[in-house]
Amino acid sequence: MGHKDRSSEILKVHIDDSEYMSDCMHFLNSLSKKTATYKYAFFKSILDNLFNVNDKYELSFDLLSYSFSKMYWNLIAKYKLPQYQNGKVSLIEKSIYNIISYDNLVDEVDFDSLNDKVKNQYLIETKHVIGINVVGALCSDLNSTIYGFSKDTKMIWFNKDSYEFLIKYKSALEKLNYYAWILWMENNLNIANKEAANLASKLDNSTKRESLEVFKNSLFESGDKLECFYCGKEISLKGCHMDHFIPWSFVKDDQVWNLVFSCSKCNESKNNKIPNNKYLDKLINRNKTILKEDYKERINKLYVAALHNGFILWDR
Ligand SMILES: [Zn+2]
Repeated sequence: MGHKDRSSEILKVHIDDSEYMSDCMHFLNSLSKKTATYKYAFFKSILDNLFNVNDKYELSFDLLSYSFSKMYWNLIAKYKLPQYQNGKVSLIEKSIYNIISYDNLVDEVDFDSLNDKVKNQYLIETKHVIGINVVGALCSDLNSTIYGFSKDTKMIWFNKDSYEFLIKYKSALEKLNYYAWILWMENNLNIANKEAANLASKLDNSTKRESLEVFKNSLFESGDKLECFYCGKEISLKGCHMDHFIPWSFVKDDQVWNLVFSCSKCNESKNNKIPNNKYLDKLINRNKTILKEDYKERINKLYVAALHNGFILWDR
């Protein structure tokens, strides 16, 4: 079992949370087995996409490689963090530097600002790297209990137990992964002082959007009312805030069904907290009216998981 296999099932089923945790720690503690940071980034991609699984608990390579690619683009091009040891340049870095020089891009350009042609070319290259070097290797490091995969169908899948474990401990796993990732970088890379500052924030923000304007416009055009979702105050399109109902710091993903218009006062006061239960029904109704789908199941699952992960309740 290793990175060369074309597929793997989940080897042990119905194991308890402490065994899953031990398998995750097996991966996070095995510093020597990594020549690059790919596995950390791929593990983060999995955690960031947990609420995008289909009803068979599957995630496509496409979805995962999009997060992975965005993360590396921002870490390498925007934050200038090398990701490979012994002074060698990784395939992903090569691909990014080639794109930057070929397209005459400013190297600080944010992933979201790349045009589709450049983005697609880069995505093809990262998907190739993931298929060859990462999916199987991480599966094996996790003792093949967390997910199975197939390089033919280009999917990974969880079972109900491993999935429940991941959402229950999402925040903890994410932070443990950042710690192992940073430790590995400190031990293996020569990072200049300027780049070494705020490593945890850089990893955490590597998939953050520069702007939520596109969601603001689409909600407005779909007929969402220009008033604060929480206090009802009238607001202007220009001055309103886009609030992640379930905080971004938990979801790590921007979905229009989780975004609401908010006044600055409510937005600042709510910050990283979970809105009181009464707003939950309001959001489900808003989605039903404006987006023609309520997303009830996903929102409820996120809500319960966020509370379980220690996020606190808020009311204005
Ligand atoms: Zn308000």
